[in-house]
Parts: sequence; C-alpha cells; structure tokens
Amino acid sequence: MKKKAEMKIAFNLVWVLLTIMIITYHSHSSAEPEEANDSIFQASLFEALMEGVYEGDLTYGELKKHGDFGLGTFNRLDGEMVGVDGVFYRIGSDGKVSVVEDSRKSPFAIVTFFDSNESLVPDRELNCEELKQYIDDAISEKNIFYAIKVSGEFKYMKTRSVHAQEKPYPPVSEAVKDQSEFDLGNLKGTIVGYWFPPYIGGVSQSGFHFHFISEDKKSGGHVLECKTKDVVIEIDHIRDFQIDLSDNEDFNKADLNKESTKGK
Ligand SMILES: [Zn+2]
Repeated sequence: MKKKAEMKIAFNLVWVLLTIMIITYHSHSSAEPEEANDSIFQASLFEALMEGVYEGDLTYGELKKHGDFGLGTFNRLDGEMVGVDGVFYRIGSDGKVSVVEDSRKSPFAIVTFFDSNESLVPDRELNCEELKQYIDDAISEKNIFYAIKVSGEFKYMKTRSVHAQEKPYPPVSEAVKDQSEFDLGNLKGTIVGYWFPPYIGGVSQSGFHFHFISEDKKSGGHVLECKTKDVVIEIDHIRDFQIDLSDNEDFNKADLNKESTKGK
C-alpha cells in the first residue's frame, strides 16, 4: 500500500516537472533572440518636459547603456542632443557641436540600439513633409514604435536649438520663442528620428520627431525643415518601451494629469 502511494507521488512529480519543462520551452521559443535588445528607452515623460520639468537625474553615461541611437535634450533645456553610432552630441544654442560628457544629465531623451529591419531608397528629392509621408506610407503597422535613420546628402536643412532656461522654468511653448535657428545648405549627414503612434499620449511625442547631425559633426539640431538629395532610409521596428521616471521634486509635483492635457 505504502509503495503504491509513493509511486503515485513520484508519477505526479514527473508530470509537474514535464509541464514546467513544456511551459519553459514554449516561453523561450516564442521570443525572437535577434530582437532581444530591440527596445525604446526613454528618460522621463514628454508631458513633463512640455510642462517645464527641465531637470532629470539620468546621466548620459547611463543612457548610453540603453542605446546607441537617440535624440533628446539636456538639463535646463540647454541644447539639442543627437546620438548616432554610439556617440552622443550636443548642439548648443550657439550652433556649436560637442561630444556629450557622460556626467551630463537629461530631463528627456529617447534611445535605442539601432538595428535596421527595412531599408528604402527614395527615387526623388523630398522635403521634410514629403519625407514623413514617404515613411508613413512605408510603415504598414501603425501600432508599434519605429526608429528611423535617414542618411546621405541633403539639399537643405533647417534646425533649431534652445537656450538654457532659468528657474522658474517656463513651459516649452515659451522657451522655444527665442530659439536659435540654423539654415544649413548642401551637406551630408544623418537624421535620427522616431515615430510613435497617437496612443502614446503624454508619454512621448506622437508622430515623427527628427534631429540631425552633419557628417563632419559641425552642425545639427532639432529638424524644422529639410530637403533630401540622395538618401537611404533605414527603419527599425520596435515593440518594447521602457521609461525611467525622474525622482525629484519638480517631477513629483508636476501636474501631468490635467484635464487640458488629456488625450493631447
Ligand atoms: Zn527635438
């Protein structure tokens, strides 16, 4: 009798182990290993930036661990950031470009490890609106995230950079009123961009957001207008999104759930 009961327990144990093995096998086989690090990593929230939360705790040294391709800004809104091939650049409001120090912090930045899933070569010159439409037509899935790299020759590029702000910080709509704008002629370079679906709401900016860095790393900024000449568009399809929320008084006290900002 005792032996029979022991055998039954052993039999049940084997079943439990087998079930665990099957579940483990399935959860591993459904993951695509090549997409393992395909994730957006974002410092803070777009809505917080819009509301004037211009100081974050995340350093560029830390951000670099989450991506080699990015755009964003710096504490006090002191310039525009473009990250390409693992090097992060700051374009100051004086137009000067410098490599970002690891200790510098950001109140808002988006990075990913860029890994192209598709590549397009437009057969005509496109202004920025046409370029966005061209990419929009190419991305059939409108519920996921995209990192977009446009590299090559540009006929025209107009960028901006923002001056460092002083406390009490104004909202972005005020801060950009005295932004510096740069008209850049014929030049080679790279647009670092992202496209997020409208449902992203106050978390990030929906639609397209482009920053630019010239090939000689002497000019760039947040893209206002452009015209392509001879470019390659590479698109990275991303299904993972991580957010690192700031932990400071300005962020914690910001009213990010106002009626006026709902569904913006
Ligand atoms: Zn920007």
